[in-house]
Amino acid sequence: MLIDTELWVICGSSHYIVPELGPEVKFSYASHKAVKEYQEAKALGVDTVPVFVGPVSYLLLSKPAKGVEKSFSLLSLLDKILPIYKEVVAELKAAGASSIQFDEPTLVMDLDSHQLQAFTKAYSELEASCSGLNVIVETYFADVPSEAFKTLTSLKGVTGFGFDLVRGTKTLDLIKGGFPTGKYLFAGVVDGRNIWANDLAASLSVLQELESIVGKDKLVVSTSCSLLHTAVDRINEPKLDQEIKSWLAFAAQKVVEVNALAKALAGHKEEAFFSENAAAQASRKSSPRVTNEAVQKAASALKGSDHRRATDVSARLDAQQKKLKLPVLPTTTIGSFPQTMDLRRVRREFKAKKISEEDYVKAIKEEINKVVKLQEELDIDVLVHGEPERNDMVEYFGEQLSGFAFTANGWVQSYGSRCVKPPIIYGDVSRPKPMTVFWSTMAQSMTARPMKGMLTGPVTILNWSFVRNDQPRFETCYQIALAIKDEVEDLEKAGITVIQIDEAALREGLPLRKSEHAFYLDWAVHSFRIVNCGVQDTTQIHTHMCYSNFNDIIHSIIDMDADVITIENSRSDEKLLSVFREGVKYGAGIGPGVYDIHSPRIPSTEEIADRINKMLAVLETNILWVNPDCGLKTRKYTEVKPALKNMVAAAKLLRTEL
Ligand code: GLN
Ligand code: ZN
Repeated sequence: MLIDTELWVICGSSHYIVPELGPEVKFSYASHKAVKEYQEAKALGVDTVPVFVGPVSYLLLSKPAKGVEKSFSLLSLLDKILPIYKEVVAELKAAGASSIQFDEPTLVMDLDSHQLQAFTKAYSELEASCSGLNVIVETYFADVPSEAFKTLTSLKGVTGFGFDLVRGTKTLDLIKGGFPTGKYLFAGVVDGRNIWANDLAASLSVLQELESIVGKDKLVVSTSCSLLHTAVDRINEPKLDQEIKSWLAFAAQKVVEVNALAKALAGHKEEAFFSENAAAQASRKSSPRVTNEAVQKAASALKGSDHRRATDVSARLDAQQKKLKLPVLPTTTIGSFPQTMDLRRVRREFKAKKISEEDYVKAIKEEINKVVKLQEELDIDVLVHGEPERNDMVEYFGEQLSGFAFTANGWVQSYGSRCVKPPIIYGDVSRPKPMTVFWSTMAQSMTARPMKGMLTGPVTILNWSFVRNDQPRFETCYQIALAIKDEVEDLEKAGITVIQIDEAALREGLPLRKSEHAFYLDWAVHSFRIVNCGVQDTTQIHTHMCYSNFNDIIHSIIDMDADVITIENSRSDEKLLSVFREGVKYGAGIGPGVYDIHSPRIPSTEEIADRINKMLAVLETNILWVNPDCGLKTRKYTEVKPALKNMVAAAKLLRTEL
């Protein structure tokens, strides 16, 4: 099997490697890790339920290998992969397993009848091998559409079905509409994707209702999904504010909640635990640190009305050009410059109060000056300050906004060995004071060239945080938008004429079902426009996005109404350009990345010029920008300097040919 290790896809809040499969693929039972781990636990006296990605979801979440015929269907590989599943099941049975769980999360997506039939076929074929085992098919992250629910609950040989009752808002009604007798219902009432303590009283009443439908001995209390997406243990947060801490449950606490609910159902309710939980819920509802009337009012006033800049983008670009006087194919970078060990040390020491504010400002100022001088030497047209004062593009803003809390050890896997520590948005968001004006104006004072003010957009802040669950996500997003809007306008007042508002994670918030895309995109794009709508025509608003795969949402991107968008592109087989080739009208500035910053490789001038030429074939010369794919934070100066030198040389070369 081919695995493209560069290709991580976002599924919920985390990423997975996408297998690339073709008709010739040969599957074999390679890793026996699952069985070994089952045995290891068993030897310790714990009979676990081994969990596997189900065969149909495995295939549906893969992608056809490069060069494979268009007519190739991933599901045609079902007959090839099922024998491997049978081998695994046989080995687990021999090891003494009593249950097995198959995760089939694709059942919550938009599936056609052909895809649904694959589930029926797969589980009929596995039935004989699985006999004697409890077989659970688990779904999560949304409710299962009614057709899929019928297919799922009719699967042969399956003894239990699992549902996400937190995000699956319609699941309860489906179950009420009919659940097969004699089967187990795994009720995911405890949120596996968030850090909030469960409302135990509310969950208990849902469970009691379910119990009356499926029967007392057939109801299993569960989390809504695996605990991979939440932090590990609240106990590791000794410094967190006590009140906020009482509102939280990390993985270890969620297990205790599940257990307490199950016991309560069985008639052994731990009254003290339940009343402590009720008190925490009540304190969260009434705490003055959660509610800020003024913010609530301002955010709800936004709903129902539109927010747009008064002038259209082409007129704005003209007005901006009069002021900025940029050459054609202007060059810029995405924001960050290499984060050296020294820089990290300076920030750490300042945080730990080991160095004075004066020394800290001096060190950062020196760094900004170095980055500015380097960009001038390289002859880049629109400069950045390099973001040396930022540890992370979300944390940096969260730390300066009200309504955010930070954990010391709340790490969650993002992909591979990469982990993130998302901030917790627990209350109404506001901006006590300007966040970036000090550094941006300092950087601008060092050069006569335009210096980009650099902000993270509201949707990205939202999508990379643990978000409060006591109001809709869009409301929280609007609040963040208002805070960032004030920052944009303060930057403008301070003389910054180009402001970049990064929306790296806009795509990550897309719901799993297409029918829900429009609603999300509508409020996400609206949030972005709230941020940018108040500036003058002559202020140029940039945005930046990662993960290139935008063809399906290009109209929403246009609707963000930024003046310039820089976008990751170089690893996407020019997919991005194909949208424009197909005739999408695009009038704003656009900078599809001309080289991949994820690799240490230094692209040559010719190679970059070639890339730009390909872009010029589909995009108007006067809207094209030249920039790398993303920020340069993770690269070394020995890579960044020659790469940018070649990038500028390529732009200059092409300018002479136009
Ligand atoms: N401005 C940020 C940087 O350059 C953008 C990072 C991102 O898109 N992930 O680092
Ligand atoms: Zn990026």
